[in-house]
Amino acid sequence: MKILVINCGSSSLKFQLIDSESEAVICKGLCERIGIEGSRIVYTPEGKDKITIETPMPDHNRAIELVIEALTNKENGVVSLDEIGAVGHRIVHGGEKFTKSVVINEEVIKAIEDVSDLAPLHNPANLIGIRACQKAMPGVPMVAVFDTAFHQTMPQEAYLYGLPYSYYEKYGIRRYGFHGTSHSYVSKRAAQILGKDAKDLKIIVCHLGNGASVSAVKGGECIDTSMGLTPLEGLIMGTRTGDIDPSVVEFVMKKENSSVADVTNLLNKKSGVFGLSDELSSDFRDLEDAYVEGHAGAKRAVDAFAYRVLKYIGAYTAAMGGVDAICFTAGVGENSGFVRKLICERLGFIGATLDEEANKVRGKEQEISGADSKVKLMVVPTNEELAIARDTYELTK
Ligand code: ADP
Repeated sequence: MKILVINCGSSSLKFQLIDSESEAVICKGLCERIGIEGSRIVYTPEGKDKITIETPMPDHNRAIELVIEALTNKENGVVSLDEIGAVGHRIVHGGEKFTKSVVINEEVIKAIEDVSDLAPLHNPANLIGIRACQKAMPGVPMVAVFDTAFHQTMPQEAYLYGLPYSYYEKYGIRRYGFHGTSHSYVSKRAAQILGKDAKDLKIIVCHLGNGASVSAVKGGECIDTSMGLTPLEGLIMGTRTGDIDPSVVEFVMKKENSSVADVTNLLNKKSGVFGLSDELSSDFRDLEDAYVEGHAGAKRAVDAFAYRVLKYIGAYTAAMGGVDAICFTAGVGENSGFVRKLICERLGFIGATLDEEANKVRGKEQEISGADSKVKLMVVPTNEELAIARDTYELTK
């Protein structure tokens, strides 16, 4: 079966067509600037060159039409429409309602709407993607795969904030966690690589991309993760603060005479390694180069980033009563031996050692711990689209 995987944002739509049997990516692409001037679709059919078409895309319905056109056109299409057996949608927030992926029906759509106030930028866009696909491919089964679902196994002691309990009961304010599809995929894959049952392992997954989070996976289940009610909590990220004292909000508002919206924008878009480096860059490639050349801002930003990851590794080792494997994934985790080294060279306290030669790896599965290491250190590239395609296939085959 061919599975179309859709990741729909407010002005962009990423897609992949995956063969459920071979798990090959038959085509992948991106619609950019939906509803904005200068929109285009960029896609790469398997074995062919990248194709870019600049064309108006007033809304997501038109974007989906163009995706289908790209996948099925006579000249360089890769399937006929009736070969697409199911569509898997990445949904950011499933609240407490969704603990695993589900087949989409009207009840599911309503439930995703109901938790939209927890992810006001993302869930509405995800729903638009679902509606657009329903319109373009009536009768094709669709599955919702939630970023939050994998973390729903967290115990109460890990997901509750120290707020009055009634705020949890009334408003659902708690830690939900994100990147769940990635944490799930990587922890399972790590167990496979190690030739062990996930049930017997304590794994820490460091998903270090533009957005970044850490999770503690004990016996195959998530018991804690660094992102919270929203993806702002936890690690220092590309442009997000991660953990700060909540009093900073009021303090900055008073000092700068700014609004809640201004401060929210500051915390999400102007902070993280971007803010710490004096706005040098949020891209770790730039920061690493500058760090090596002695740029003080780049050094301070990357050092603070690595230190925060180290602290979470320490915390989650304590939470699980030990750790068997620490996995690095996503853009930075998979590609930056530099950042991995900054973190791993301080893990001697758990008996972990780094093999510096192996740590040169980029974007490939690789054990990077030394032969004498008591903890396995691993690079495990994530593949959220494949994980979504697998769930979609399982629920619709
Ligand atoms: P997201 O999906 O959250 O946008 P990604 O997982 O794609 O993020 O990661 C993006 C980050 O990965 C960027 O900050 C980029 O600098 C970093 N990155 C990609 N390749 C490299 C590399 N070779 N070295 C260091 N960092 C890299």
